Amino acid sequence: MPDLALEVIGVRGPVRHAAARAAVLGPLVPGYGSLPVGKALARVRRYWQVRAVQLYTAGWSKVVAAAADPKLALWYLRNCPPVGVLVRQLTRRCTQPRVCPFCWGREVALAGFSFLENLCYGPPVPHPRQSPPPVELVAFSTRRRLGLAAGASADRWVAAVRASARPGGVIRALVEDRAVRRAEVAALGAAAAFVTHRLSFAPAGRQLWVDRCGLALVPRPAAGYRDRVLAALGPAAPRPADVKVRALGRPSRRNLFDATRWALYYPRGMMFHPPGPAVALLDGLAEARVRLTARYGPRSQKLLFQQIGEDTRLCDPEDVSPSDD
Ligand SMILES: [Zn+2]
Repeated sequence: MPDLALEVIGVRGPVRHAAARAAVLGPLVPGYGSLPVGKALARVRRYWQVRAVQLYTAGWSKVVAAAADPKLALWYLRNCPPVGVLVRQLTRRCTQPRVCPFCWGREVALAGFSFLENLCYGPPVPHPRQSPPPVELVAFSTRRRLGLAAGASADRWVAAVRASARPGGVIRALVEDRAVRRAEVAALGAAAAFVTHRLSFAPAGRQLWVDRCGLALVPRPAAGYRDRVLAALGPAAPRPADVKVRALGRPSRRNLFDATRWALYYPRGMMFHPPGPAVALLDGLAEARVRLTARYGPRSQKLLFQQIGEDTRLCDPEDVSPSDD
């Protein structure tokens, strides 16, 4: 079945969509800002179409073992709709955000931006509140590097990655353990946060990166965020250079854009680096009940204001946004 010739008929205007596009295009298309949006996304789509076939060839069980028809499963992957634009054709999302750049854009970057935007401004309709609560927007990223001794074969490396993504493995523990997963949020004293984990690996070296990254709203801004995060991670802490925390001041859509692009960007290695470790990660985590993202904090702007002791009469009474975890 030939691929769909998806025709972009409009660029989604709100900042949240621009942030989602930037989180994907930044790592994949250098200098994308000088290209028309449709052209930059078309390039990502070509990369993804090639990658989907590589992962299938490398034995990705999601596709190879698809009950109905592996070729059809591959076709849906290759024709996942681009993020942040309107296309004329109707096509189904592939729902593989760990690796599909467009699903990452929607389920991580757009979801993270929107969660905090709704808490800061209320829902987009009918009456957006213009003044966010008196909190500080903080973005963070902590990286664990997992390696294999030099000289070990590529096959051994792939087997080690697969084992560490399965129950009892170190990757599984880092992404699945609830207390570990929210350690940075607790250390920052955040009132609300959106957290994800990003798995990537080096192009040739036998090194894997497990990043935990997110956006947080902190009601009592203070200096020393990074030291607090480092201390909270304790003996399992990454090396200090791999703990990054950025305080961006009072939230605005502008700095939510910056924070999203900085913290929630697509893992480039999943697209371009050897397919073996990517398949090992995807297969290893396939049966895990691990959500890629977690939301912490109140469910609405009104509840957020109540939590931080501010006047809730300024909030829209219908202000409720979805939340979990
Ligand atoms: Zn997709």
